[in-house]
Amino acid sequence: MPQRLQDWVTARAELRPDATAVALNGNALTYEELDILSTQLARTLIEHGCRSGDRVGMLMPKIPLAIVAVLGIYKAGCVYVPLDPASPPSRLASIIRSAKARWVLAAGGVTDTVHELRDGHGFGDGLSIAWLDPVRPVDADGGGFTYRDVVGCPAIGLPERRAGDATAHLLFTSGSTGVPKGVVITHQNVIAFVEWAVRHFDIDSTDRVSGHSPLAFDLSVFDIFGAFAAGAELQLVPPECNLMPARLSEWIERTRLTQWFSVPTVLNYMAKFDAIERGAFPELRRVLWCGEVLPTPSLIYWMQRLPHARFTNLYGPTEATIASSHHTVVECPLDPTAEIPIGRPCGGEDLVVLDDDGRLAPRGTTGHLHIKGVGLSPGYWQSPELTRKAFVTGADGERLYKTGDRARVGPDGLLYFAGREDMQVKSRGYRIELGEIEAALSAIRRLRESAVVAVPSSGFEGATLCCSFVPADKPAIATAELRTELGRWLPSYMIPSHFRAYAELPKNATGKIDRKALREAWTVEIEQEVVDARKSAAS
Ligand code: AMP
Repeated sequence: MPQRLQDWVTARAELRPDATAVALNGNALTYEELDILSTQLARTLIEHGCRSGDRVGMLMPKIPLAIVAVLGIYKAGCVYVPLDPASPPSRLASIIRSAKARWVLAAGGVTDTVHELRDGHGFGDGLSIAWLDPVRPVDADGGGFTYRDVVGCPAIGLPERRAGDATAHLLFTSGSTGVPKGVVITHQNVIAFVEWAVRHFDIDSTDRVSGHSPLAFDLSVFDIFGAFAAGAELQLVPPECNLMPARLSEWIERTRLTQWFSVPTVLNYMAKFDAIERGAFPELRRVLWCGEVLPTPSLIYWMQRLPHARFTNLYGPTEATIASSHHTVVECPLDPTAEIPIGRPCGGEDLVVLDDDGRLAPRGTTGHLHIKGVGLSPGYWQSPELTRKAFVTGADGERLYKTGDRARVGPDGLLYFAGREDMQVKSRGYRIELGEIEAALSAIRRLRESAVVAVPSSGFEGATLCCSFVPADKPAIATAELRTELGRWLPSYMIPSHFRAYAELPKNATGKIDRKALREAWTVEIEQEVVDARKSAAS
C-alpha cells in the first residue's frame, strides 16, 4: 500500500512510462511526463518558500495541468485547496483566508479573479500567485513563479516531505452559518477507499475512466486516483460537453470510455434528452453514480440502452471520503417507482442506523445514519466545535460520523436512503446548506425577512430553490437586483431559481418562519408550472 497518493503515479511512470495518464481533447500527458512535471512543480514550490503542510489554493479549470498541480502540491508535502473559478471572488477569499493559504496556483483564464482577490480583498502581497499557463497571460502578476520556471527546474532531488498529519486536501463545502466549512482529508483516507474500489470494480491499466466532477467535489479524487492506482487513463470531460447530452454521448463514444462516474444529474440529463442509442458505448463496462438519488426511470433508460454495462449506486458524504456504501443493480427494475438501495458498506467502513436514543434501530425502521471506519475525516478544518458536533463517539467507543441522512435497513439487509433531517439539499449534484443562502440574503439591507426552501423538481436538477422575501422598503427590490446581490457571495448553483415577495412570511406557533407552509405553497406553484409547460408544449 502506498504511503502517499503520488506514489501510484511514480510507480506507474517506472512500469509504463509512455502510457497515457491524463487527457483532455487530445491534449495528453503520459505517466512519465506527469511524474516529471509534478516533481518540477514541487521543487519550484519548495524553492519559493513553500513549507511542509502549507495549504496551496488551486484556481484553475479541470485541465491536465490541474492534475500536475495536485501531484506537485503533494510532492512538496503540502495540502491542496480547490478554488472553483466559477465562484465569486468574495467566496474564494473567505476560503483562502480560512485555509490560511499563502499560495495560489492559477491557470486557464482566471486573471480577473486573481486581480480582484489581490486588490479587492486585501490579500496584496500576502498571497503569492504562480501562473501555470504555458503561455503566461499578459496581465498576470502576483510575485510567484511561472510555467517557465517550473519546466526549467531539474526533476531530481526532491526532499522526502509530507504534511505532518498527512493531510492531502481541504474540501470546502457549503456551511449552514453562511461560511463554507473545510473538510480535512488525509492521504490514508483516500488510499483506503481507492484500494478497495480498484479491486472491487476491477479497474486495470486497460481502462479509460471519466473525470467529470469539479476538483472542489470529492468524486474527482476517485476519478484521479482510481485511474492512477490502476495505471489507467483519466479522460477529463471537456467543459463544452457538460450540459450537452448529444455531445457528451459523442465524447464517450470517441474516447472509448470504459468507466463513467458522476452525479446522477448528468445521467438524468442524457436520459431526458434520449441521447443514447441502444447498444451504444460498447466498451463502457461500468456506470457509477454518487451524490444523490438517481431516479429509477433514468436508471431503467440507461440499463435498457447499455445491456452490456454494470450499474452501481455509491453513497457517501465528503466527511467519510468519496463513498461509504455501494450497490450494483443486477437486473433492470421493471417498476419505475422501485427504490434503489444504497447497499452495503465499502471495504473498511461500517454504516449504522441509530434511533433517537442512539441505539441500533430495528430492521425496517428509519433512523439516523452514521458512518465509521477508514474513510472518516479527522474533522473540519480548525473548527473543533463543528467537528465535535458531527463526529461523535458510539456506544462501543468508536468514532462515528453523524451524516444527517435518514436511512433504514430493508428486509434484504441492504441500506435504503430516506432523505435528510436538516436544511442541507442537493441541487444539480451540488451540496447546499439553505442556511448559507439565507445568510447571504440577510446581508441585503433592502429585505426585512427572507427564507429559502427546496422543493423536489420533476426535472433533472434535484431540488428547486425557492426564495420568499419581505421587502424592507418601497419600491420593492426587484428579483434581478436580488440575484445580482446574491451573486456577489454565492456561486450560481446556490442562487434560487424562484423568488416571491410577501407582505409577511407565515409563522408557526413559536413565532418562527413556517418553512413547511412555504414549502407546500412553492410545491403547488411549481407543480402548476410543470402542468402549464406541458400544456404549452402540447399546443
Ligand atoms: P457530498 O458531501 O457532496 O458528497 O454530499 C453528501 C450527501 O449527499 C449525503 O449525506 C447524502 O445526503 C447525499 N448522497 C450521497 N450519495 C447519495 C446516494 N447515492 N443516494 C442518495 N443521496 C446521496
